[in-house]
Amino acid sequence: MPFTKLGLTKPLLEGVQAMGYGDPTPVQLRAIPPALEGRDIIASAQTGTGKTAAFALPALQKLGQHGKLRCLVLEPTRELAMQVETSMRDLARFTDLRIGSVFGGVGYGAQRAALRDGLDVVVATPGRLEDHLQQGTIKLGDIEVLVLDEVDRMLDVGFLPPMKRIIPKCPKDRQTLFFSATLPPEIAQLADWALRDPVRIEIGASRSVTSTVKHGVYITDQGGKFGLLLALLKAADSTSVLIFSRTKHGADRIAKRLRANNLSVAVLHANRSQNQRIEALEGFKSGRYGIMVATDIAARGIDVAGVSHVINYDIPQHPEDYVHRIGRTGRAQRSGDAFTLVAPDEIKKLAAIERFIGQKIERLQLEGTNVPKHGAEAMAARRPKPEPRMDGRPAFRGPKRRFGRRRD
Ligand code: AMP
Repeated sequence: MPFTKLGLTKPLLEGVQAMGYGDPTPVQLRAIPPALEGRDIIASAQTGTGKTAAFALPALQKLGQHGKLRCLVLEPTRELAMQVETSMRDLARFTDLRIGSVFGGVGYGAQRAALRDGLDVVVATPGRLEDHLQQGTIKLGDIEVLVLDEVDRMLDVGFLPPMKRIIPKCPKDRQTLFFSATLPPEIAQLADWALRDPVRIEIGASRSVTSTVKHGVYITDQGGKFGLLLALLKAADSTSVLIFSRTKHGADRIAKRLRANNLSVAVLHANRSQNQRIEALEGFKSGRYGIMVATDIAARGIDVAGVSHVINYDIPQHPEDYVHRIGRTGRAQRSGDAFTLVAPDEIKKLAAIERFIGQKIERLQLEGTNVPKHGAEAMAARRPKPEPRMDGRPAFRGPKRRFGRRRD
């Protein structure tokens, strides 16, 4: 079913068209019509399924025209708050609605000014929102649509108490749209308390790996990981690689070693200042950095169009993080590759991941040693060959870009 059949108004359909979306994704198909009727929604949907537009479009439609602050979206991280703000602005570009965000790590001045000038939608992280509430710079008394996004991650980072304080500040007769990748009992309880007779939507299993991602593991000793990483990077003439590290220090260390190899690298983790995080993410999105090294929490839900490879330098601590990490590539019908470097002491975690996703992950052999050549060759061999041209001439693959090479 096309977007035009979902009951959206013309300016929003134009926004969808300008985003270049084709047909609605499953979560959009199932959430948008009941949300437009004013129903509460509880959806378990992975990131990368198009869930932002699934809540943004009905929320924007309900607001209609510029007025008071009537929509609040809560997000667990600053990066997600910024990303959702951008998506909502993009979708609302043919309306006069005003969308802003409030999150920590940056000054209050610009946020206060935007709130004073009048916003219809605020995308917020709970901590900074509570500061604004205390200072009286934001009021939630006119909220008509409350969106609770990435609720499982909100709980992971300790945001349950502020959520419980913030939600009752919104009017009781509001509409609430609730999204979480997983719905364990604690979250189901929160949903029971926050929602009224919700429509339940379950999209795929959050255990499944997006079908557009090819994934495999390299078994290597800890000391061989960096050499293998370098070889994998050098073999691919792709544009953007996201590398996951288990710890913040690990992320810094990997980035430092990559830079010593003349690669341009961004780093994203919670110990970096807000300005550094914005610079890293923007630089990675724009292609200034071909590589970003990140920790799980910082990278959760981050949407970067065209991440060609995800490399898990460390195996994820929790099996569900595997699904989230490799979901950064192959988003929205694009294909991507994901590789995990597994040291012998991580094999147990690998088995746990395989049980969780219900599938054995392909072993990519490094014959003989952990000399990375074979890994590199394997990666190169896995790249799809360009389609032959009808006129028999070789296909143009574009200028060969060695990602991450410093251009200076
Ligand atoms: P999300 O799960 O909301 O983070 O969305 C993941 C990515 O899919 C984003 O880049 C969206 O812009 C994109 N997207 C969302 N809906 C559609 C759609 N119907 N068709 C194509 N891409 C979409």
